[in-house]
Amino acid sequence: MTRVILARRPTGAPVDEDFKLDTCPIPDPGEGEVLVRVHYMSLDPYMRGRMDDAKSYATPIPVGGTMEGGSVGEVIASNHPDFAPGDFAFGMFGWATHGVQPGKMIRKVDPAHGPITASLGVLGMPGFTGWYGLTQYGQPKEGETVVVAAATGPVGSMVGQLAKARGCRVVGVAGGPEKCKMAVETFGFDDCLDHRAYADAKEMREALASACPKGIDIYFENVAGKVLEGVLPRMNVGGRIPVCGMISWYNAGALGADAGGTKDQLPKMWRTILVNRLHVHGFIISDHWNSFPEFLREVGPMVASGKLKFVEDVAEGLENAPRAFMGLLEGRNKGKQVVKVI
Ligand code: NDP
Repeated sequence: MTRVILARRPTGAPVDEDFKLDTCPIPDPGEGEVLVRVHYMSLDPYMRGRMDDAKSYATPIPVGGTMEGGSVGEVIASNHPDFAPGDFAFGMFGWATHGVQPGKMIRKVDPAHGPITASLGVLGMPGFTGWYGLTQYGQPKEGETVVVAAATGPVGSMVGQLAKARGCRVVGVAGGPEKCKMAVETFGFDDCLDHRAYADAKEMREALASACPKGIDIYFENVAGKVLEGVLPRMNVGGRIPVCGMISWYNAGALGADAGGTKDQLPKMWRTILVNRLHVHGFIISDHWNSFPEFLREVGPMVASGKLKFVEDVAEGLENAPRAFMGLLEGRNKGKQVVKVI
């Protein structure tokens, strides 16, 4: 089998030399385990954090270890009663052509219910993240204004479409005119601001002020940086900020390092949270898998009927996964980034 290993820990943005293509024997499934031939794998921003040796909610990938990640493929051998060869399953099989996982750690995917790639995006972890964060911590109400960045990605597009369905004004932030067009025309955002067009937080703030004339009630935090600095002064009293991610700072290591002059902003940020009585709630979706069936019950039919749209960006071949991942961290992906492995 072929896999991609972490060749060394990146300094700042990952480069080619941080990854290595490797071959090793296909593992045999042990007691209760299932062997899968991977068809598609997911690339997600959290993988950048796993490449560092910093304290976090998950253990780092060891140097020489297989890059971690979720993927979907066909069962080719099973020692678990719930899985048989020919079934399709999602699991954390890593950046690899094959993977073994305990049957209780993977879930069946029915190709009759739509493209299997949906299990990596709109009906998988990222879609679930958008749904959970918005409904639990955002608590959108009709007439409120919601801002979300990385608006055309699987998390942001879920947040935007669900908030719109609940009667909110939804303003996206995305990188470049093409993505902004996609946010409005494909995902139905009311407006979308191109963060690349604004030189600094001040310009971002002015653009947000005209796009959100009634202030901002919910800021779904995906990117931090300039967007966060622009949003905070516009937050309404009692506003909610589900803190989901901060991708613009991921390459800054454990954030003790320079995170773009943001440390100077700390007193101002903290004061805004107090004065505006903001509810700021960090969450990690892996704590909430017990709500996944509820998510599928609500959102599955919306996807099946075409009411909820999704866009996928497919890179071809496992060997191209590192380049596609570097592109994701720079915003080169258009929609959910997946890799076609076979
Ligand atoms: P996306 O597919 O949207 O990809 C990431 C996007 O982030 C890029 O396409 C780019 O979009 C944007 N981006 C990258 N760098 C910057 C930057 N410097 N400034 C502003 N935007 C930038 O990702 P996902 O939808 O999968 O994830 C979105 C966020 O949710 C991430 O922060 C991720 O870590 C987080 N997340 C958190 C989870 C949790 O459990 N808390 C679970 C899953 C995801 P653009 O070009 O439009 O700016």
